[in-house]
Amino acid sequence: MASHPDDQSSTKASALPIHIQGLTKKYGRMYALNNVDLEVRSGEFLTLLGPSGSGKTTLLMAIAGFNRPDAGSIRFADTEMILTPPHRRNVGMVFQSYALFPHMTVAENIAFPLKLRGTGAEETAQRVADALATVQLSDLGERGIDQLSGGQRQRVALARAFVFRPRILLMDEPLSALDKKLREQMQIELKHLHEQLGVTTVYVTHDQREALTMSDRIAVINDGKLAQVDTPHAIYNRPVNRFVADFIGESSMLPLTRDDTGKLYFEDHLIATDYQTETGKDYALLVRPERLFMIGDETVDADKTITFSGKVREFVFQGETAFALTSISDTHDLSFRFGTDSSSSQDSMRPGDPVSLGLNRQDVIVIPQTSDQ
Ligand code: ADP
Ligand code: MG
Repeated sequence: MASHPDDQSSTKASALPIHIQGLTKKYGRMYALNNVDLEVRSGEFLTLLGPSGSGKTTLLMAIAGFNRPDAGSIRFADTEMILTPPHRRNVGMVFQSYALFPHMTVAENIAFPLKLRGTGAEETAQRVADALATVQLSDLGERGIDQLSGGQRQRVALARAFVFRPRILLMDEPLSALDKKLREQMQIELKHLHEQLGVTTVYVTHDQREALTMSDRIAVINDGKLAQVDTPHAIYNRPVNRFVADFIGESSMLPLTRDDTGKLYFEDHLIATDYQTETGKDYALLVRPERLFMIGDETVDADKTITFSGKVREFVFQGETAFALTSISDTHDLSFRFGTDSSSSQDSMRPGDPVSLGLNRQDVIVIPQTSDQ
């Protein structure tokens, strides 16, 4: 087989970092992207997470070259791409709708990008066979697209996106047409595939659990602006504002007041003594429901634990966990979620039952009340 200087014997491509600066895209007077700065590291799996209409697809299409931003820069490593047409960017793409060619077989679909690039027959056959093996469809190369299930079609779309060894892979809600079980299975498969290929990947979803499952880092986007870019762990445990806190996971917010010495209180509960606050800003305590725990007769060390006493308002048993909405004052509730076990009396709380909930001080999260950044 003739070998080209840029041939690579391993499946690992040399990945490229993406540097995005000041990216702005307007539709009429509406900003779909508003001055976005984002660094996607070489080889990382970065997820753009945000509600419908927040600008995720617009940003992905700008990286792929399918839309022209009004301002800003997109560099792949050191090369400015803003004026480079899509077919010159060497980017693999997977969409929610599979966009496969219905009149071609599975193998012909996967071979298509190689054909466009003038790859020789022998090498094409080898790469298609490798790609089929990678997505575990080796036996189905000769099938028609209409003879495949949804999950299999999405695997074909994936194989077609990476068969030409792009150095960047972009995926726009690729799993959202699949049912829950298959979606969760494919999330893990995609993660493994990414590890295997080592390609810089930007993945779009509006599903926070999917983002937490798959990503090295998550970029939370709202109204065309990035709200926070961080690891799943940091996004969940240290959200920078209320939007991020609300969008990722369940939470309760309790408004805080500040005394002359800078201590933060919720009603008469001391919440934090040394939190850096800015004057003029309001703060809230963010409580994740699974961080709360039930306190019985035991004595509690107030240096370590904040105690909220209240009454159960609503109780829902949901199998592996149960959920209790608990009123802790006239106007404030806490959501409390806990693991169930077959013998526990907690599994059958009733509305009106008194309950004491503990929160370790190390689990205190204070965030600014307003969501403007
Ligand atoms: P997402 O993918 O996060 O759901 P989009 O990037 O598709 O959001 O859209 C961001 C905003 O830009 C939305 O308000 C959408 O209506 C608008 N928009 C997207 N594409 C176009 C277009 N071609 N013409 C006009 N408005 C558009
Ligand atoms: Mg979209």
